[in-house]
Amino acid sequence: MRDKDQGVYVAPGAGFCPGVKKAIDRVLELEAAGKKPIYTIGPLIHNKQVSDNLEAKGITAIETPREARDKNGVLVIRAHGVTPNFQNEIEALGMQVIDATCPLVKKAHKVIEEYAAQGYDTVIIGDAGHAEVTGLLGYTRGRGAVAANAEEAGKLPRFAKVNVVAQTTQKEEIFYEAAEVIKAKAGVCRISNTICEPTKQRQRETIENAQTADFVIVVGGRHSANTARLSKLCGELCPKVMHVESAAEIRAEDIASPRKIFITAGASTPNWVIEEVAARVRNLRKRRISPPALIEAAWAFIIRSAVYASFASVCLAYVCVKLQNARADAGVFALAGFFVFTLTAFNREESVAYFKSKKYYFAAAVLGAAAVLAAAFRHNIYVWAPTLLFLAMGLAYPFRNKIKLLSALPGAKDILTALGWCFVCVYAPLAAQGAAFGKSSVLALAYGFLLVFTRSVILSIGAEYKDMMLGKESFYKAFGIKTTQAALTLIIIALSAVLAKLYFMGWKPKLVAFLLLGHAYTIGAAVYFYSRRIPRGTGMETIIDGQFYLLALLAYIGTNLI
Ligand code: SF4
Repeated sequence: MRDKDQGVYVAPGAGFCPGVKKAIDRVLELEAAGKKPIYTIGPLIHNKQVSDNLEAKGITAIETPREARDKNGVLVIRAHGVTPNFQNEIEALGMQVIDATCPLVKKAHKVIEEYAAQGYDTVIIGDAGHAEVTGLLGYTRGRGAVAANAEEAGKLPRFAKVNVVAQTTQKEEIFYEAAEVIKAKAGVCRISNTICEPTKQRQRETIENAQTADFVIVVGGRHSANTARLSKLCGELCPKVMHVESAAEIRAEDIASPRKIFITAGASTPNWVIEEVAARVRNLRKRRISPPALIEAAWAFIIRSAVYASFASVCLAYVCVKLQNARADAGVFALAGFFVFTLTAFNREESVAYFKSKKYYFAAAVLGAAAVLAAAFRHNIYVWAPTLLFLAMGLAYPFRNKIKLLSALPGAKDILTALGWCFVCVYAPLAAQGAAFGKSSVLALAYGFLLVFTRSVILSIGAEYKDMMLGKESFYKAFGIKTTQAALTLIIIALSAVLAKLYFMGWKPKLVAFLLLGHAYTIGAAVYFYSRRIPRGTGMETIIDGQFYLLALLAYIGTNLI
């Protein structure tokens, strides 16, 4: 169980299955590499939010390759796989073909192919007409049949030699029941359980939890076969089951009385949609019983609307102003706050989802950009000219695949975020007063850059966990967990070295000593995330951006109170 607030339990294995995740990653990599247009044979997954998101990135689902208008585009075979004949057909079209078939589906292809080559017939226990089953049939050498269950298996003819396999998302009980029926009327019968491990695990946790729950919510697309199957399984274990596609479908009266609510999801449901459903259920239940619901809702608004990150940047600006002995001017703090608010609201997918309608979030970003410009033009050319440049780069970021360097540079998002924050928090306060850059400023720049880069990388780890769509522009996605952990360790050492250097230079030793104290918090947070304990909801942002609030407090104490 990963969550039990308000009697709400969320299945630990819910979220994208590895096959779906891999296929989406592959497509996003192509998009980031500027390959256009990208066509997927059938929707990558049956989830409206994700499909809309992919569509917005120019990734279109088509039913047949003939629908691909631009023959210079890329055709992607989704996780379900296709028949070998179909694969040959599309490869003969001359378009670039990317095979994103799940390795576990490929394993099933291989099992079927091996037995078919030895003269075995094949019976697939699954849904006739489902894309994966159609693909599996293609490997049976024309001697394949499909049965949905034992009853349908009973209607099949006798077999001399038969291999019984399962659709990878089949329920184990149904598979074995049907296989036994076939075995009884076959000369030789091989039973090859091709149900994939992630499905088995999902089924195990569903059986374990659904039977002790009073109400089960299954989250997933209406057209998703595995979500429908999961829903059916839950219906056999719990008297009350609801299948929803999004949080908006949950009504207060549905979830008011059950003591224990179990939330699970199909393999094509992103974690962030599951989290939204869980958060709505919990909030509606809390509203019944306690006022803290209001505080939680307000906190979610502060985080998702980018207000928290915006004030975090003001805090960092304050720390760097103190570190550089610059003048604390409200104008430069406003510039930092508005700048980070605008670009976070504009670029962070979670914020977009939070505002639900793109109109509101777009309006927030436009107002923010106007405020940034107003704040920048109060200062000299050394402030407003780079502000314009960084703002333009940040606003152009969603269109990065048109800018070769950005799409080619692994970790570009984290590097640019760190540069942007550094500009407004470290460089601008000093440039605004026309002061010269000394050694301490260079060290402050390094300090700010490394802190924000670490923040951005850690937030990406959380975003990946929530199944947000990340490409190689994220350092973590580009280099994987081991390299990311090694890089973060080096950065933490470098941050310690920067502070130690300032201390031994005799530069504001009291302030630096307090910042070293705050540095312990950053180390603690990094160690916490190394262990992959990703907090739910808004916990990740609260902890990570909380470091800037703490550093500002320590900087205040170190410069004013001691
Ligand atoms: S359900 Fe299993 S086999 Fe199917 S795509 Fe996911 S991991 Fe692969």
